Amino acid sequence: MAVNKETYKKIKEELQLNDITLIAVSKSKPIEDIKVLYDLGQRDFGENYVQELADKYEALPKDIQWHFIGHLQSNKGKFIAPFVSLIHGVDSFKLLKEINKQGEKSKRIINCLLQIHIAEEETKFGLNEDELDDIFGSTELKDLKSIKICGLMGMASFTENEETIRNEFRYLKTLFHSYSRLKTNNCQLTTLSMGMSADYKLAIEEGSNMVRIGSLIFGERNYNA
Ligand SMILES: *Cc1c(COP(=O)(O)O)cnc(C)c1O
Repeated sequence: MAVNKETYKKIKEELQLNDITLIAVSKSKPIEDIKVLYDLGQRDFGENYVQELADKYEALPKDIQWHFIGHLQSNKGKFIAPFVSLIHGVDSFKLLKEINKQGEKSKRIINCLLQIHIAEEETKFGLNEDELDDIFGSTELKDLKSIKICGLMGMASFTENEETIRNEFRYLKTLFHSYSRLKTNNCQLTTLSMGMSADYKLAIEEGSNMVRIGSLIFGERNYNA
């Protein structure tokens, strides 16, 4: 299926008006499709799989900002650490430490978002409020000099019920708001990554400033991702 250029332009315009960053989620999509959007000016792309991301990084222009939006396994961080722009799904202190180690090796500071579990489904990854408190309260956090916590990320329930989705986003926004006062050497929460193809409009209404949109722009995916 071809890239939906008109939909892309419409969404981009809508988001620009509100200063919201659009991540074009290109997982499972070929290089040619990414180039089509690149030629329209898109620079932020999101991927879920380390190998796929590394391959696409190699093949495409180096001014693309790559977002890793999948669940990162600790042992795979090294493959993306040298170039990744933002890792969205960090959901443990252990992973944060591992990313820090890889950041040190690559002589980079790696931007991270902490993923919060906001959906009803048990299967979605993420921290709960207590675990989030534990990370921010940890005395070891300040020693992680090669990461920066830039904000929070969440995925709402897969449901038709708008009220449920809205409440989940609202909850995430409240957490974001309360932690955005925190400013330390490696924490400054300015990014709230929430909203996908099906729910990005609700997410924006509830205060998102970064949305991750795949199928609306690129068409349905070729595999279940
Ligand atoms: C796949 C994916 C998206 C994009 O999903 P669409 O419904 O295709 O817009 C956004 N965020 C994450 C974390 C994803 O895995």
